[in-house]
Amino acid sequence: MSTNRLIYLDNNSTTPTDPRVVETMLPYFYEIPGNAASRSHPFGWQAEEAVEYAREQIAGLIDADPKEIIFTSGATESDNLGIKGVFEMYASKGNHIITLTTEHKAVLDACKKVEKLGGEVTYVPVKNDGLVDLEVLEAAITDKTILISVMWANNETGVIQPMKEIGDICKKHGILFMSDATQAVGKIPVHPKEVGVHIMAFTSHKMYGPKGVGALFVNRKNPRVKVTAQLDGGGHERGMRSGTLNVPGIVGFGKAAEIAKAEMAQDAARLSALRDKLEKGFQDNLEEVYVNGNIEHRMPHVTNISFKHVEGEGLMMTFNQNIAVSSGSACTSASLEPSYVLVALGLGDDLAHSSIRFSLGRFTKEEDIDDALRLVTAGVNHMRDLSPIWEMYKEGIDLSTVEWAEH
Ligand SMILES: *Cc1c(COP(=O)(O)O)cnc(C)c1O
Repeated sequence: MSTNRLIYLDNNSTTPTDPRVVETMLPYFYEIPGNAASRSHPFGWQAEEAVEYAREQIAGLIDADPKEIIFTSGATESDNLGIKGVFEMYASKGNHIITLTTEHKAVLDACKKVEKLGGEVTYVPVKNDGLVDLEVLEAAITDKTILISVMWANNETGVIQPMKEIGDICKKHGILFMSDATQAVGKIPVHPKEVGVHIMAFTSHKMYGPKGVGALFVNRKNPRVKVTAQLDGGGHERGMRSGTLNVPGIVGFGKAAEIAKAEMAQDAARLSALRDKLEKGFQDNLEEVYVNGNIEHRMPHVTNISFKHVEGEGLMMTFNQNIAVSSGSACTSASLEPSYVLVALGLGDDLAHSSIRFSLGRFTKEEDIDDALRLVTAGVNHMRDLSPIWEMYKEGIDLSTVEWAEH
């Protein structure tokens, strides 16, 4: 490969915008510049028509009514609106929310805020494969519980939760069910009504649409759900989200939804074959390679792999001029913290720090996977060659018995 070709395997962070989406958006910057809320002239009418068409495209992707789609600035805002909006709207029914320890920060931090406002939140742990234990989840319900929020698919591991089973539990107890489905919408079939999800957050830029636009699905019938607006203003979006709509962004989001609906099955089949090739390649070429999270219930395009005794951030430096991925460590202030998601799966700090997330996407080619396999394998071998810990492991020393000097 040429040394300057950059391979993008970080599609769970954001996806490139599909060129067909960009093309659809362009007229809405200059030729059709209207504010969708301007009711008195054709510019406004055209913008509104475009927004309503996009709303239909997006509703069509998730089998919802267009009226159930509330546009936002992205999934972070949608998660905040869902969690805080339910907490406020249903305050007379109770103040308890249940969620998982492996949720995205947008959900966890919104829950932290709810706790500050006098709410109670139970953070249910997951099993070692990342799946929720349904009995533990149900046991967390109290007579004050108003909401259970469980992500459809995890951003770090791709693990898909048993949505239908959780929906049944919520139904049985008369509790609202919310899901952050950001990583699942547009990639696998996601039909909230079918599984009993009442509120669902997702975003355009994780499904080949533009950044800065997202949606909250809010169920309108049986039950009729409402969330308290978190922005005060003109009362747009059925009173749930004020603010001038991002017309070009919404048009692009709609087009992305239409493409996803048409191409999801073929993309998923192609990408899961490539993902499996990558995983098998590492397992065939290297020792001590572990795939994190349940491998049956997971997204087709993601693999999260720990290369034992190799520090992930260091490993990334050996190939990050050529390959873009994410590691299982997060730089929080000055220190390198292991991913809380991987820690929640019971991985020790060492395995969490040695993990790399490869997330493929619509524009990933087979040669990208071949090159990634070669470069990452070389990087792992290089790091292990330099590692005294790897040498000790190869000599058969039980590393758990080694006493490390304090420093
Ligand atoms: C990316 C992501 C978000 C945040 O979405 P934005 O549109 O970037 O705000 C929320 N939840 C999950 C699971 C994500 O992957």
